[in-house]
Amino acid sequence: MKQKIGIIGAGASGLITAYFASQNPHNEVHIFEKQNKIGRKVSATGNGRCNLTNMNMGSEHYHCSDIQFVTKVLQSFSLQDTLDFFHSIGIITTTLENGKVYPASLQASTVVKVFEHELLHNNVQIHTSRKIESLQPVHNGFTITTAGKEEHFFHKVILACGSCAYGSLGASRDGYELAQSLGHTIIEPFPALLPLNIANKQLHTLQGIRWDCTLSVVVGNTVVQQVTDEVLFTAYGISGPAALGISRAVNEAVLLNKDVYIQCNIFPYYDIHTLHSLFDQLLSHPKKSLEFALYGIMNNKMPRVFLSMAGIPYDWPAVESCHNIDAIISAFTSAMLYPGKPRPFTEAVVAAGGVDVQEVNPATMESQLHKGLFITGELLDVDGDSGGYNLQFAWSTGAIAGKNA
Ligand SMILES: Cc1cc2nc3c(=O)[nH]c(=O)nc-3n(C[C@H](O)[C@H](O)[C@H](O)COP(=O)(O)OP(=O)(O)OC[C@H]3O[C@@H](n4cnc5c(N)ncnc54)[C@H](O)[C@@H]3O)c2cc1C
Repeated sequence: MKQKIGIIGAGASGLITAYFASQNPHNEVHIFEKQNKIGRKVSATGNGRCNLTNMNMGSEHYHCSDIQFVTKVLQSFSLQDTLDFFHSIGIITTTLENGKVYPASLQASTVVKVFEHELLHNNVQIHTSRKIESLQPVHNGFTITTAGKEEHFFHKVILACGSCAYGSLGASRDGYELAQSLGHTIIEPFPALLPLNIANKQLHTLQGIRWDCTLSVVVGNTVVQQVTDEVLFTAYGISGPAALGISRAVNEAVLLNKDVYIQCNIFPYYDIHTLHSLFDQLLSHPKKSLEFALYGIMNNKMPRVFLSMAGIPYDWPAVESCHNIDAIISAFTSAMLYPGKPRPFTEAVVAAGGVDVQEVNPATMESQLHKGLFITGELLDVDGDSGGYNLQFAWSTGAIAGKNA
């Protein structure tokens, strides 16, 4: 008799689990997906191009209560294993900016189509529009029940339901609830890799401007993170890669009621001496206001906003401002932005938090509480930086589970 394997969730980690589990001829593999298509989130990744991993791989790009867990996972199914795997199923990869790896087609949909082909070819039974509502341990395995009250027995079950980030692609709390129903601990999720609300109202008038900045997250008196990249100013705060990059650290501090602000430097590529001489020159003009004098070096909406936030009158005559040059420069290099409450999960690329990794064996992804239950991907209390790290974690955990199930 064949060993029956049931996978709940046909996203990144579920698809690769199914692939590896189906390599063993003694397994009969079924994958259940509540949406009417497999891999919907995968199809949307990397702006439709699927940034599937990163050549600069390492646990320092991840966040988890036990970072050793991530290190072990990345050793068991590494970056090279991932690249070899994609090549073996006919997906050639290409490396673009900052080590980001994509399929050569630059189409995320290609990745999902190739997975579908491989799974069907390996006799995996794909059940779409099947939401799993309950998971019960029974003798020698588990029974899973769909929303339509179909019951299925499996010797082994893989929970690959993902997180609750980005509900428009089907994400929900299902995975946490199913894991919790079997006694697993859930570290309360919070949204990461998303835009930030900023309380300074003046900043909102910069809506639509894109500008490279250095953003430093200051918690207490300590800089805990610094990112230099593009900021997109919005009607509520900041978006763009720099804002997304610091969002996890900011939201975590806000939710823990810590004293946090973001220091914003709109001149990340100038050293202070160069800035001094440029400002000296700009402010020496006898007929200009301070605001107007600064139009020559930044977007013309910026002087008023940053000077007001620093309490400096923007309509001062430029020449009279010269004696205050340090404070004026600092208004643009050390602006203090105060984060508001986190924006919703619907806008988050990933969720921090999830199933406590202390309860999962990193060598196999098997639950420490239930033999035969495996947990993969973003459902676990692991989230990565932007740049291919979250998909890599899904591929690694899925492959490990598929080989060990
Ligand atoms: C817009 C966007 C862009 C992204 N871009 C990138 C990127 O370029 N690079 C990168 O590394 N990461 C990216 N990510 C993150 C990455 O997509 C996820 O980390 C990854 O898909 C997680 O894989 P997973 O298998 O854990 O979950 P998912 O891929 O989310 O799959 C979970 C699946 O389980 C299904 N499911 C849930 N509950 C049930 C249930 N009860 N019954 C049946 N099925 C269920 C869901 O419908 C879903 O299909 C992006 C995320 C988003 C939202």
